[in-house]
Amino acid sequence: MSQTILGCIADDYTGATDLASMLARSGVPVSLRMGVPGKNAGAGSAIEVIALKCRNAPVAEAVDECLEALGWLQAAGATRFFWKYCSTFDSTAQGNIGPVAEALMRQLGAGQTIYCPAFPENGRSVFMGYLFVGSQPLSESPMKDHPLTPMRDSNLMRLLSPQIKGEVGLANRLTVAQGPDALRAHLGELRKNGVAHVVVDAVSDDDLKSIAEACHDMSLITGGSAVAMGLPDLYRREGLLSAKAQSAGVPKVAAGNIVLSGSCSAMTQQQVTAYLKGAEGYRLDPLVIARQGLDHARNWLRQQPPEGAKIIYATADPETVRAAQAALGADAAGALIENALTELAQDALAMGIRRFVIAGGETSGAITQGLGVNRMTIGHEIAPGVPWMFSQSSGENIALALKSGNFGATDFFAKALSRSDNP
Ligand code: ADP
Repeated sequence: MSQTILGCIADDYTGATDLASMLARSGVPVSLRMGVPGKNAGAGSAIEVIALKCRNAPVAEAVDECLEALGWLQAAGATRFFWKYCSTFDSTAQGNIGPVAEALMRQLGAGQTIYCPAFPENGRSVFMGYLFVGSQPLSESPMKDHPLTPMRDSNLMRLLSPQIKGEVGLANRLTVAQGPDALRAHLGELRKNGVAHVVVDAVSDDDLKSIAEACHDMSLITGGSAVAMGLPDLYRREGLLSAKAQSAGVPKVAAGNIVLSGSCSAMTQQQVTAYLKGAEGYRLDPLVIARQGLDHARNWLRQQPPEGAKIIYATADPETVRAAQAALGADAAGALIENALTELAQDALAMGIRRFVIAGGETSGAITQGLGVNRMTIGHEIAPGVPWMFSQSSGENIALALKSGNFGATDFFAKALSRSDNP
């Protein structure tokens, strides 16, 4: 058992696994907890990531939960903290990115923090404070139609401002490209002028390295997972982390498998279509479930051989989603699907299925909670930011791949489940 150095709080489960896998690339042991652990859960890793499901929670609830997570991480010994949100800055005018950052800063006595959602390896870049998804500005990307947090502006300063009380500044690419010293000097200037919240541009991994170098001694950094990638090596250099990685053994996991998709993101739509070419499929329609319940889907699942390729999906195009939301309400439609997929995951476990590929951040949160998973170890990466992870449910070894909406290539599901020996 070693002291925790870096404590991370993520606003959804796939974001947490993404962050954990980026940090694990350094070879430092990373432990991932689902929800704030109990007092006696005992920290054990130099890096602890707490996955919350607070992206769409009411602001006060999200703030309270994050402060509780912060308290646990501080008690575990952490002195540096990372607030992880989506690389597409998923939030509303109320929050929760800004209010949580401000609350964490207050608690830590931090005079300044940075906001860097860039993830160049996955096509997310920030230039002059504008967030791009591939070559499209955020507000022209498919994120404009997200079922819960439609992103209709691409300017991060404008998105952040209404969420916080303090002033927002920018460290643009021209500064970042000059290297860590120039960035540090610029942040110092802004800080002198009372700017506590700084959006930082990054379009490449080299930019992220400079940012990590300039900011690794901040008590709080906020962003997507990629800017955190360089932190463990910098902590090693500082002498905070000495332990070399002990790669944890991979537990044996039986081959029964299922893909459960509640994500309606553009990439997930392509992935579902591609997987259906070689797998049995069942489409969940919230309007049908609202009328008839889940028996039909449960019967379908029961007839499937555990080891056969199969997918249950609510994934639909924006027009279909809008129709369901108009009839049921957006929150109710989302909850209906999340509950249905959770119940089906529990059925799958009971019939011997042990490998779960789950698409969607909210969806992953609901299903892992439903499977009673509270701690995971990180395995190999299937795609950037999406690792296989290992845990136990009802005393059985299980493997989980939690894929955030737009991550992975078209063949992601088949790729994840391509190995029959062990994931
Ligand atoms: P992503 O990672 O792509 O953002 P999430 O799981 O976080 O995916 O969010 C998708 C939300 O949309 C979930 O709450 C899910 O239950 C809901 N949803 C999925 N399919 C439908 C549908 N057909 N109609 C309405 N809502 C849906």
